[in-house]
Amino acid sequence: MTDLDLLIVGGGLAGLAAVLGADPKLKTAVVSKVHPLRSHSVAAQGGINAALGNNPDGREDSWQRHAFDTVKGSDYLADQDAAEILCQKAVPAMYELDHWGVPFSRFPDGTIAQRPFGGADFPRTCYAADRTGQMLLHTLYEQAVRKNVTFFDEWLVAGLVVRDGKCLGLVAIDLASGRIVPLRAKAVIFATGGYGRVFQKSTNAYINLGSGIGMAYRAGVPLKDMEFVQFHPTSLYGKNILITEGARGEGGYLLNNEGRRFMADYAPKTMELAPRDIVARAIEQEVQKGKGVENEYVWLDLRHLGREKILKRLPGIRDICSNFAGLDPVDSLIPIQPAQHYSMGGIDVDETCASPVPGFFAAGECSCISVHGANRLGGNSLLEAIIFGKIAGESASRFVAGGSPCVSPEREIADESRRIVDRITAVRRRDKGENIFRILNRLKAVMSGKAGIFRQEKALREGLDEIAALRAAYDEAFIFGTCTRYCEEMAIHLQFGYMLDIAEAILIGALRREETRGSHYRTDFPVRDDENWLKHTIMTLTDRGPVINYRPVNVEKYKPEERKY
Ligand SMILES: Cc1cc2nc3c(=O)[nH]c(=O)nc-3n(C[C@H](O)[C@H](O)[C@H](O)COP(=O)(O)OP(=O)(O)OC[C@H]3O[C@@H](n4cnc5c(N)ncnc54)[C@H](O)[C@@H]3O)c2cc1C
Repeated sequence: MTDLDLLIVGGGLAGLAAVLGADPKLKTAVVSKVHPLRSHSVAAQGGINAALGNNPDGREDSWQRHAFDTVKGSDYLADQDAAEILCQKAVPAMYELDHWGVPFSRFPDGTIAQRPFGGADFPRTCYAADRTGQMLLHTLYEQAVRKNVTFFDEWLVAGLVVRDGKCLGLVAIDLASGRIVPLRAKAVIFATGGYGRVFQKSTNAYINLGSGIGMAYRAGVPLKDMEFVQFHPTSLYGKNILITEGARGEGGYLLNNEGRRFMADYAPKTMELAPRDIVARAIEQEVQKGKGVENEYVWLDLRHLGREKILKRLPGIRDICSNFAGLDPVDSLIPIQPAQHYSMGGIDVDETCASPVPGFFAAGECSCISVHGANRLGGNSLLEAIIFGKIAGESASRFVAGGSPCVSPEREIADESRRIVDRITAVRRRDKGENIFRILNRLKAVMSGKAGIFRQEKALREGLDEIAALRAAYDEAFIFGTCTRYCEEMAIHLQFGYMLDIAEAILIGALRREETRGSHYRTDFPVRDDENWLKHTIMTLTDRGPVINYRPVNVEKYKPEERKY
């Protein structure tokens, strides 16, 4: 058994930031199911927020304004103390990234360029053209490999071991060999990203299955606010590849089938730069009213930006349009539709990234602190991953140094290893039932159909019934693959049970929350209800099934008001 002080699961921005926050004296390892540079963070396009106040018109910005926009954008469900930490730390963090060599785009005076993003009262999104995630990830990886840390690349974590309320370690599979590896650690940080691929239409990478969130939940760590799922307004129609909000930030228009800028009817002040929940709903409503093109999508128009600006600021978007839709946004309209994009909910942690289970921490998209509440503002997620990833590394290091690390009986981890081996053996023996990929596709259809942008009681209940049916099918699911090396079907099989748990948590949270807030829109309860619902949903998996509690939101500073844009 491998013994470590600190185990970080995930090599995306949050995991790498955790490496940089960790005490270099600790024996630390990063486990990631893909090479860190292939983590989903690499796909982030539009930018990262910080109140640097660089703008050509001389207006002043402040981290407090950033915090206010974040809280308002969250429909007042964000914890305000956590949002303040995020926004205050953003400014020095941006200069640190700049000094490490992130090739930020620049204004002519040499300052870091900033573009407008939805829901922000100021152009405060720093960017590297439309490849911000790639630049950040490569820079952080350079910094992380300089530390005394072991990287276990292409190792899939299949089980987290928590016994008697303490985190003991985990069990991974080396995907290249199929070998099962038990890992014991004094502290574990999950930075395992989002669950986008639980949905059919998603901008997320295929690896974003959310198994980390499900694994923590199965091990007894509570989840928070799982009903809040972000749908991005502008994904390429049919393919659902993201067309960054930066395209609207640079001045892009949304047009209906009459060629009209319909956002005037939904957010007259901010138009296309209203927060994502509002724009995504507006697009769906236009289509429902018969104002969509082919009753399916609307247009994103960048033509008036001109060739030079598109080539300089949005070169990746131009490539995506050309490669996946055969069009050039310089002279053609882009067909777009909303798609699942981000998970506001996740593993319940506080602002030190500690979960209620001693020794278990989480950061980045898999976690819920909560800084995004019911709706995340664009540009705040990369920021959260970097700021709170580092905090997680620091907190876990303090936990290890604190002298009360979890003493871990090897037997418990060995038992979990055996359970996983038995499971793999049973799946390999099976040749009947339904193939795992078919069941995966059924799950995605259920979630997009029953827990999408517009929700109501009947559909949510039907979704839960269908999850129960999928569980039965999963118990009998088989795989075609017989290889032990890089067996993708087996990797999906091992993670699918966690996906079912996540799907169920989203549906239950959405069914119980009888109000509309941020991304959670109930057609049968279309109004925000602060009196009864200004609270976080905390869900714990017990022997009796999911148990829900509610926790108050920190609303110390900014009083909830109606959101107008
Ligand atoms: C297309 C797109 C564009 C975006 N653009 C922006 C943007 O411009 N600005 C912004 O703020 N946000 C953006 N976001 C959101 C942002 O990119 C993500 O929220 C953020 O990068 C998540 O970082 P992370 O480190 O938490 O997770 P990830 O980068 O997803 O990393 C997760 C890591 O966990 C590992 N992992 C997962 N499960 C397991 C397992 N079971 N075993 C082992 N390893 C595991 C993976 O290998 C990976 O290394 C965008 C999102 C999408 C989908």
